[in-house]
Order: sequence, then C-alpha cells, then structure tokens
Amino acid sequence: MHKKMAFIKNILASNFTRLQSPYKITFAVTYKCNLKCKICKIWQNPPQREVGIEEIERIFKSLSNLSWIDLTGGEITLREEIIEIIKVIIKNSDKILIFHISTNGQLPDKMFLIVKEILKLDVVPFINVSIDGPQLINDRLRGVNGAYEASLETFNKLKQFTKIHCYLSCTLSNFNINSVDDLLSALKKEIQNFDFSDMHFNIFHASAHYYNNHGIDGSVNSNPGMIKNYLSLCKKGHSVKVFLENEYLKGVDYFLQGNKFPVKCQALNATCFIDPFGRIYPCGMYSEVLGELSSCNFDFKKIWNSEKSSQIRRSIQAKKCPGCWSPCEAYPAILGCLINR
Ligand code: SF4
Ligand code: SF4
Repeated sequence: MHKKMAFIKNILASNFTRLQSPYKITFAVTYKCNLKCKICKIWQNPPQREVGIEEIERIFKSLSNLSWIDLTGGEITLREEIIEIIKVIIKNSDKILIFHISTNGQLPDKMFLIVKEILKLDVVPFINVSIDGPQLINDRLRGVNGAYEASLETFNKLKQFTKIHCYLSCTLSNFNINSVDDLLSALKKEIQNFDFSDMHFNIFHASAHYYNNHGIDGSVNSNPGMIKNYLSLCKKGHSVKVFLENEYLKGVDYFLQGNKFPVKCQALNATCFIDPFGRIYPCGMYSEVLGELSSCNFDFKKIWNSEKSSQIRRSIQAKKCPGCWSPCEAYPAILGCLINR
C-alpha cells in the first residue's frame, strides 16, 4: 500500500510543483543491441564504459522518490549484470510501483530468467516485447532473419507468468504503417487467445543521443487516421493503462500537426533520462546533457538541482526542445495535469 500512496502523492505533487527528485526515471542500461533496426541506429554506437553496479547503487540511493522506472536499452538482456542491476535498483528504491522493461525479445530464455528473478523480489513488471510488422517486414526492418519468431517466442514464454503485464509493442513508422493489419492478422493466427489489448503502439521519434537516428525520416505524419485507429485497439484491460492510452490518443492529432507536446511536459519537473554511461538528459529525445554522474560521485540530486538543470528546464518550458509524444514521456505528463491543466 505504501507504494501506491507514494505514487499518488508524487503524481499530485507533480501537478503543482517541481519534485525534489524525479518520481520516474528512464534508465538505458546498455546501448548494445543484437538487432540492426532501420529506424534506430543505437547498434552503431561505439562501445563505451557503462556505469558499474556500485555506481548504479549510488545513483539509486540518491533517487529517494522513485515510483516508476523504465528499464531500457539497447537490449537489456545483453547487459551481463542485468539481474544484479535490477536487484540493486529494487533494494534501494522500495517505493517503485511501476517497473517497466522493454526488450526486443531476441533472447527468450534470458528474458524468462530475468522475469523469474524479478518476481522473487515481489515486484510485478510491465514488459514490452517489440515487434514491428509481419514476419518478412519485421525481419527486414530489424535487420536480422528470425527476429519475428524470437519475439513471439519471448512473448509466449512470458505469458506463462500470469501475474505480469506483458505486451507486444510496435513502433509505427512510415516503413511499417501499411503492414500493421497484416501483423495483427498474423498475431491472431499465431498466438493463442491473442487480443488487440495485448498490443502497445508507439510512434516513431528521432533522437541524436538515444536512438542515434537523426536524418532518418520515419515519421508517419501523413496517416494520422490510421495511427489513431491502431492506438485505439489497445484500449481494453488494465484500467490505468486504458485511461492513459485514451488520453494519449487525444494528443496524437495535436502532436502530428507539428504542435510539439499537447500538455505540459514533466521532463525535469518529475522525470528524466539516464544513459548507460551515467549522463543525465531531460528525456530520450532532447539531447541537452544536464551533467555526468561520474563528476559528482554518482549523487543524482547534485545534477538535478544544478544551474544547468534549471537552464534546460526553462528551455523546455519555452518549447525549445524538439517536442515529442512518446508514451514514456506522455504518460507522466498526462498524470501531471490531472488537476492543474
Ligand atoms: S529499436 Fe530497439 S531493437 Fe532496434 S536497434 Fe534500437 S534498441 Fe535495438
Ligand atoms: S516535450 Fe521536449 S523535453 Fe519533453 S519529453 Fe518531449 S522532447 Fe523531451
């Protein structure tokens, strides 16, 4: 119960004020990836030293307010110490209510093991397994033959854990928008009891520091009707998810018309992004670095409360960031204007 109370308190506070430390973090644990996607060039990044376990422990000790984490990559299963990392995060953040993980689903056994370990820690994860089209399109877009089959195998394996919330996640881009009906038909045939609410849809976004995909034109601005149609398929199930999906849908037109963020963004007010090397950014899309955690002994609050952080926050308020409508950022923004619109 204390997790729910802390979560509600944080959401209410984010409606009125800047939090002393974020309640939601996106942490990319590695930029290594075993796919070669057309819409994301993370896999082309040169290797760099990633933050180690002790450093991660220090970071999460200083994130005293955390209710919500998005653990992402690259591909999280490729981070060798991933189970230890998850244990350290949970040990130091006893208020986490939403533990969300994204995987490309290429290592079904490893992902199964990770979820088994998470459940032992008394945390019920939300997991997105990505899939970007029917078999041929998916494998072509993701640059690896057999990627589609592996994603389905991971999804089916994870569905054995009846407690967890597991979705197939498709990023809509101009490379796959005309193949989504075929994907849904294929999934209906291939997955027992498949329901459209097992899907989650995202929209293509560009980012220099995260997806390394600047210059790739994947946006689907010409098809807002189709996008809304697919997004609305996910509306059954978990009530908070349905609420957020509905509200998210309302903002799609506004965003696609070039109007940036439909509601007040919560980046640097209540949320932020940490890359695998300990650099802090407002979010996955705005490539302004707040600071490097290695420069302050991995004390997150020093950077959160720095002058640079205030400067970047002002630039977000002035809408000088690229703008986005990614669910990762949109959901806390929607919750942050429940009362104070
Ligand atoms: S979109 Fe995901 S799976 Fe594809 S290259 Fe980027 S991180 Fe890897
Ligand atoms: S609106 Fe700007 S700062 Fe906010 S999440 Fe999107 S890109 Fe980042």
